Amino acid sequence: MPDVQLYKSILDRESSKPNYERQYCSRYWHYEHWRRFLKHGRVFSALDIPSMSEKTFIKEQEKISDAWEVTALKEMELTVSEERSLAIQRGDVDSEGIPLLTVVVDGSWAKRSYKTNYASLSGVAAIVGLESKKVLLVGVRNKYCVVCARAESKGLKPDEHKCFRNWMGSSSAMEADIIVDGFTKSVEMHGVKYARFIGDGDSNVYKKILDSMPYDNLTVEKIGCKNHLLRNMCNKLKDIARNGKIGHVTLRKLTGSCVLRIRTAVTMAIKYRKEEPSKTENDKIMSLRQDIMNVPFHVFGSHENCEPYFCRDKKDKNYVTVLKTSGLLCRLLDVLNSLSDHARSLIKDVSSNKVEEFNSIVSKFIGGKRINYCLKRSYQARCCAAVVAHNSKTPVYKLHRSMYNCSPGGVNKRSEERKAARRARDSLRKKKLHPKTTFFSS
Ligand SMILES: [Zn+2]
Ligand SMILES: [Zn+2]
Repeated sequence: MPDVQLYKSILDRESSKPNYERQYCSRYWHYEHWRRFLKHGRVFSALDIPSMSEKTFIKEQEKISDAWEVTALKEMELTVSEERSLAIQRGDVDSEGIPLLTVVVDGSWAKRSYKTNYASLSGVAAIVGLESKKVLLVGVRNKYCVVCARAESKGLKPDEHKCFRNWMGSSSAMEADIIVDGFTKSVEMHGVKYARFIGDGDSNVYKKILDSMPYDNLTVEKIGCKNHLLRNMCNKLKDIARNGKIGHVTLRKLTGSCVLRIRTAVTMAIKYRKEEPSKTENDKIMSLRQDIMNVPFHVFGSHENCEPYFCRDKKDKNYVTVLKTSGLLCRLLDVLNSLSDHARSLIKDVSSNKVEEFNSIVSKFIGGKRINYCLKRSYQARCCAAVVAHNSKTPVYKLHRSMYNCSPGGVNKRSEERKAARRARDSLRKKKLHPKTTFFSS
């Protein structure tokens, strides 16, 4: 049962204030609720409460969408300056003095499509700076415009409108197009070059970046995301354990139960080799390759080639001979061999978590992909709002400042402060739960 008095008091407060739009802006977070209220006008009429007309709502929504886009651009410009000065400080510039950045890239769609059904109407991709961990560039591709679609269905020419359809290709090609666009325009737009990028296992993006040749005298380097590489390895190992054609069932069960141990062993080898002092980069990579290839032997009880740092308990049963005769060991070594080919990426120990974090904020703004926001510009505006939220952590405050050149009221500030405090508490708790392992005391 709705709280009639509460709604009435809110609306009385709203209508008594002169600037209608301003009040709605500061309550953007409740936008979805307002929209639902407006859609269900009968609730309002039952409560005898006047509400916005649809026309007014669309007008206000357009203004706020514009404001989110402008605020996002300002935030991204600030991040670029931060990344630029950090690159200059560490001397990472090319012969012309242009700063060289390492970025993390990824994309997501407006519709759930994990390994199947890539038919989303809109997609977003972001380029995030590795040092600042903030979004440097965001792009949206829309395949659909409700005005154009309605006109087409009637066989008419659409009326003059602000059209947000900017993509005619397939949904799966959206991410690569946005990222390549970002790379080719980086010098012109921001005066920086994206020299290295961290991405997931999607080789299509890298191929397209190389094909587009964004910089005359620089080849962009790809660093594989550690989490994706390890996840792929685990999936392949699980496939081997599930394959009924190889080995005895007990050995396959043993393999399946050791997948996590193999992953942990590889992770520990990466941490150790990365921090190893007095070794060149190439030596570290070679040592890591050897460690990775030794992991199955170590996990299944043969410690002859283990490095002293690698294992303490050497009393476990040795299964290596039986695994070898069953053919399972050979398959496991194949998987580990293809992982060790990425030792150059693994030694960097970097992941695409920051861009995944941005994707999760986008997902939050679009209601967990349950509601279709791809009809007009709503998806684009929500992606921009996600940029402001990710980069500044105080989105409503930033939006208000950008729209009115003044701070919002104390209520908003206190609310943003409370959220920031909660985030800090959560992150501290996580750090206490999962402390970082260190190998060297000095
Ligand atoms: Zn259109
Ligand atoms: Zn061992």
